[in-house]
Amino acid sequence: MVSQPELFEKSENSMTSANATITCRCGEVSLSFPNAVPKFRCGCCCTECLQRVYIGTNGTPPEALKNLEEPLDLLYVDSQVMKPDAETLSKLSVFKLNTDDAPNINLRANCCGAVLLTENAEFHRPHTVATFNNLGEFLRCDFLELPESRINVFTKDWPSEKTQALTEREVARTGTTSLQVPDPRQPVEEKEFLDGIAALQIEADPKPGNSISFAELIAHMEMKVVKDFFNEARAMGTS
Ligand SMILES: [Zn+2]
Ligand SMILES: [Zn+2]
Repeated sequence: MVSQPELFEKSENSMTSANATITCRCGEVSLSFPNAVPKFRCGCCCTECLQRVYIGTNGTPPEALKNLEEPLDLLYVDSQVMKPDAETLSKLSVFKLNTDDAPNINLRANCCGAVLLTENAEFHRPHTVATFNNLGEFLRCDFLELPESRINVFTKDWPSEKTQALTEREVARTGTTSLQVPDPRQPVEEKEFLDGIAALQIEADPKPGNSISFAELIAHMEMKVVKDFFNEARAMGTS
């Protein structure tokens, strides 16, 4: 039988050692997450994600993303963040893409322009936000462990030859292909995908006293609409 003090000590340890961070390019903004293990991971081929990448890299996405050779590597994490200090808070802003009724709220570091997180009203809210794992120097992601990515979503936004080439590279690299979901807004039957979507609705845990929800983090920020790089992000795709 485990005594109470031991249980308490264990949870204290896992809380302090398990923090994960994302850090903007210039290093002035860093956010920590009390749950250091993403609940889901997938590749996203959507043009909105690519436009976010263009915006967050000030027009210079990593070549593989720009050329539709690699999907954006999305990590879905609990929407609970350690409360940032006042200086960090002053460097954060939120924006929507292209229209003020867009489904995603994007969090940006004003210092270097890095896009840090995105929250989708339909699939993520209120327990999950997504961050971007393959932006190299533009956004450093440090998590305790990463789930495997076995699904690519919004492949409809890529020309079929690009999707085909992606499939061939996956086979060459891993011996197998990811599940391709052309449009997650259409009915999808595969269990793997449904399990992933269901995971996004799992309540954030833990919620230490010095942490806040994404909604609380952005509550006092003024929403902007950003239309930059609209055409660039669509130049090679199908929509
Ligand atoms: Zn996307
Ligand atoms: Zn920065």
